[in-house]
Amino acid sequence: MIRISLHVAAVAVTAVAGALSLTGTAGASGTPARPVPTGPGALTRNPLYTTGEFESSKCAEPGRRAGDLDSYRAYLDDLFGCLDRAWREEFRQAGLRFSPPKVRYITKSVNTGCGQYVASYAAGLYCPRNKTMWILLSKEELSDPTGFDLFTVVAHEYGHYAQDRAGILAEFARQSHTLGRKRADDLNRRVELQAECFSGAFVASVWPSLGRDRHDWDEQLTWVVGDRWHGRTGNIRYWLKRGWSGGGPRVCDTFSAPASRTA
Ligand SMILES: [Zn+2]
Repeated sequence: MIRISLHVAAVAVTAVAGALSLTGTAGASGTPARPVPTGPGALTRNPLYTTGEFESSKCAEPGRRAGDLDSYRAYLDDLFGCLDRAWREEFRQAGLRFSPPKVRYITKSVNTGCGQYVASYAAGLYCPRNKTMWILLSKEELSDPTGFDLFTVVAHEYGHYAQDRAGILAEFARQSHTLGRKRADDLNRRVELQAECFSGAFVASVWPSLGRDRHDWDEQLTWVVGDRWHGRTGNIRYWLKRGWSGGGPRVCDTFSAPASRTA
């Protein structure tokens, strides 16, 4: 399972000016959107933690065909539509501006604006610098048209986008530059584990409509492999399941969690 790495997220600081110039729409109620939070409170008292859980909604998975790029694009377009809808509502409840990320589907390593895409590393990457999700449709990915991993990877990367829109990535990047390696790694893990939690919460909200077997979800948990930047395997599973179990973004405040949960 695949994530943004420290060097990718660390560019968020330079992306702040861009984020501020983005024009989003205020809440449907017409109330003016609140400013994107800054400072330590962006991590621990984020308005996203005041929203309800993702509304359960329908999100069908269009059929894919092995090697057929177009069918994968259609699959992902639908998934992004579901994520846009789900997160737009959370941001509306939080009183924060929202607009969907830019998305690029690629089939080989390219320069993402956050460095060269490392094809062997990730199926998805979010680059805060250009507010773009980069999804790699490799030969390997295209050979498994029934797999569920792409769905969860995209949900995870979208979690990073939500963190960016909510001021979390910018504060993370600001703090990272002042911390020693150990504490910077811990903070990086909190960012990653939160994206896992967001992913679990979103997947649960659309799960009944996917027509998948519980086995597909259990398999995701089985495949998790931890590392220094993403946390121990057990902690990744913990946050995925915590998101899955309901409550919405509020249960995903990894920044207030004890160190044992983010090791
Ligand atoms: Zn990540």
